[in-house]
Amino acid sequence: MTDLPEELIPLKRFHGHLGPYVVIGYRMGKLARARFEGKMTAVVFTGKHPPMSCLIDGVQMTTGCTLGKNNIHVRDGHLPVVHFIDSTRTLEVRLVDSERERIDRIMTKHNEEHLSIEILNADEKDIFWVTEVGSGLPERLVKLK
Ligand SMILES: [Zn+2]
Repeated sequence: MTDLPEELIPLKRFHGHLGPYVVIGYRMGKLARARFEGKMTAVVFTGKHPPMSCLIDGVQMTTGCTLGKNNIHVRDGHLPVVHFIDSTRTLEVRLVDSERERIDRIMTKHNEEHLSIEILNADEKDIFWVTEVGSGLPERLVKLK
């Protein structure tokens, strides 16, 4: 049993287990909250199949965007990408491809908590590509890359 950092305990309780994708969503949401203070909407491009869709719960946990409030939307795509949208800007946060490939290659039930802690402690610039654009056609952005 891995020793969990304190801050991951509520996330594990909320989500039911800990894996890298829920922590990726958790960090993406924190990153967005640091830039957008007021109302925002999240559009998540993971689709609805775990493990990638676990990311959705991490985003809900750190942004306050929830299904019940209808300010989080899930799109198909099987992409670890989220758009955070406030009244004037869209922030695209994307898991870097090499990290996605690494996780998908090595993740198992036995190492998922270990990988979660790695993600929690990783440098933002090593795991995320962040693009900020003005309001416009955020859904187009995801297709361009
Ligand atoms: Zn999960």
